[in-house]
Amino acid sequence: MSAIKVRPDMMDSTPYAPGLTIDEIKQKYGLDTVIKLASNENPLGASPLAQKAINRHAPYVFRYPHNGNPRLNRAIAERVGVDEAQIISGNGSDEVIDLLVRIKAQPGQDEVLTYESCFSMYRLMSRLCGINFRQIPRGEGYRQPLKALAEAVSEKTAIVFLTTPDNPTGLAVTAAEVREMAASIPEHTILAIDEAYIDFATPAEVYDMRGLLNEFPNIVLTRTFSKAYGLAGLRVGFGIMSPELAGYINSARAPFTVNLLAEEAAIAVLADEVFYNTTLDVVLRGRKRFTSGLREMGCEVLDSQANFVMFKPTRDAVEVFEELLRRGIIVRPLKSFGLPEYIRVNMGTDYENEVFLKTIREIL
Ligand SMILES: *Cc1c(COP(=O)(O)O)cnc(C)c1O
Repeated sequence: MSAIKVRPDMMDSTPYAPGLTIDEIKQKYGLDTVIKLASNENPLGASPLAQKAINRHAPYVFRYPHNGNPRLNRAIAERVGVDEAQIISGNGSDEVIDLLVRIKAQPGQDEVLTYESCFSMYRLMSRLCGINFRQIPRGEGYRQPLKALAEAVSEKTAIVFLTTPDNPTGLAVTAAEVREMAASIPEHTILAIDEAYIDFATPAEVYDMRGLLNEFPNIVLTRTFSKAYGLAGLRVGFGIMSPELAGYINSARAPFTVNLLAEEAAIAVLADEVFYNTTLDVVLRGRKRFTSGLREMGCEVLDSQANFVMFKPTRDAVEVFEELLRRGIIVRPLKSFGLPEYIRVNMGTDYENEVFLKTIREIL
């Protein structure tokens, strides 16, 4: 037994469990090629403009980045159409979520509230900060009943997390629905809307929450460069919030968490309209194919507004996952989300999508 002691509430933490890497799977099953459709990454790879920016700035990595990433914040603010004082960039939106929990919730006193079967980061960050984590049930068809969430808010609720489009269901709620809900959430509670997949929601106007920011100063939107912008490995995300809240975070946070190459690549990819628009084309086309293709095979498929679909295969989900793996296709079984009968698969290139559909048809 080691004599190392950590916080008592940290002694039984279970680590975040990512799937096997592509190389590990190639080795294990003796495969030459593997198609990964498990982590909702960009099907086109990395933007050529982002890659050029990384190469161009490689000689300068001996320098510290500009603290607070003002150039990046300005570029994001321009793209989003808000003031740069409303932007907080982070080491992935995971860091923004972490910063929100830390700046807002009182350890041992406050709680974070969300739905069951949600993105694991909310629990992880809350626990690490010593914040209670409370989840309420989903509605019929795994929908997110907004009224129930608002009603579950108590004096102790520091932050409510709402993921829309949702991971892992792909379901989305409209801005009109959120407006109604936000009106019944007390001002002392932050309503954090995780928009990691917002780029893929159509029609965009219906799901556009930006108009709510001025109406409700307690609303925060979090977004990421990991999905539609194809920079998951560089770790860049951002939050859009009231300048006051952003000011508190800026005064308290650790410096330099968005590294120099990540900042340059993110600025470059914001200007790469071709990459962005092609990504949306490929994803939306694939989403249609997956939804109708899997339904034709008798699978239950949820209506997705994201770059993945959640479905229930006609056979045991874990078996189907393993059969796919053996044939070189990685998808995400949703057991760890508490949905053991379901699988999440993200859209790849047109070719990868056809291989996936053909292979799962054979398996089923
Ligand atoms: C992928 C994802 C993110 C993005 O996280 P990063 O840290 O920016 O890579 C955030 N929220 C949800 C729900 C996600 O699925």
